[in-house]
Amino acid sequence: MALPILCGSFSLHPVSTGAAMHNAGYRALGLDWHYVPFAVTNIAEAVDAMRTLGLRGAGISYPFKESVMPLLDAIDDDAATMGAVNTIVNTDGHLVGYNTDWIGGARALQEATTLRNKRVLVLGAGGAARAVATGLSREGAVLTIVNRTYEKAQALASAVHARAAYLDAVDLDAIDIVVNATSVGMSGVSDALPLDPSRLSANHIAMDIVYKPLRTPWLLAASARGATIIGGERMLLHQAAAQFALYTRREAPLAAMAAALTSLQ
Ligand code: NAP
Repeated sequence: MALPILCGSFSLHPVSTGAAMHNAGYRALGLDWHYVPFAVTNIAEAVDAMRTLGLRGAGISYPFKESVMPLLDAIDDDAATMGAVNTIVNTDGHLVGYNTDWIGGARALQEATTLRNKRVLVLGAGGAARAVATGLSREGAVLTIVNRTYEKAQALASAVHARAAYLDAVDLDAIDIVVNATSVGMSGVSDALPLDPSRLSANHIAMDIVYKPLRTPWLLAASARGATIIGGERMLLHQAAAQFALYTRREAPLAAMAAALTSLQ
């Protein structure tokens, strides 16, 4: 009799969103697979355990996306370019690291618009911003990067063929899409606004990659200005769908996974 297959996530502060989406996906396809979020303090031990126990896949979250890389047997080219791994696939003990955040960011926006030649202001230059900027750049968007630490904006801009700028110097009339890819607005981190919403209009699409809370103060303010808003849960869904496909080699049942995410809210 075939044994059930186990996947999971390694994070310092596990949340239930990944398990809800992946388990709903397994059920929708009738797979005897199970996904468990693990609270991890030592990522090297967790990776060893993955090999020992034969976990098929693991999602990697804060703060291990970079430190996990040297522990793996191979790194996919995209993840190497971004310098971060959010997904490990275990094939008979051979562990390969991938990054699906960049796919999630691009697909979340593509639900609302095309990206080619769109002028996008990316706020932030941390790990998630790097993934989002890479994805949008590959889809042909024209990026401006702004970050509290300007040198990091410059480094990211040169990596994705974009320009770095100071926020006050950006002409929002020459921007189509604003993506908050900082942790500003995340509950427990900061309830400040990453950009003065009075600079937005009904011509803008405002996306927040923060998904806790689901409707951040900035998204609510952007919506009040008439902007089209996209919440961080859409990126979360699409990056999970890409992980699901890597683990199972099946197309992710997006509707079932989205419904599971919605049921948590
Ligand atoms: P990170 O690497 O620590 O980067 C944090 C970013 O936020 C940096 O650009 C940092 O600027 C900026 N920042 C932090 N506090 C700030 C403040 N008070 N004022 C201005 N800028 C500030 O974190 P990350 O991994 O990129 O994650 C960022 C957010 O994305 C988190 O909320 C995370 O939950 C979310 N996320 C969402 C998804 C999704 O699927 N929706 C996926 C991944 C991450 P400095 O460089 O100046 O420090």
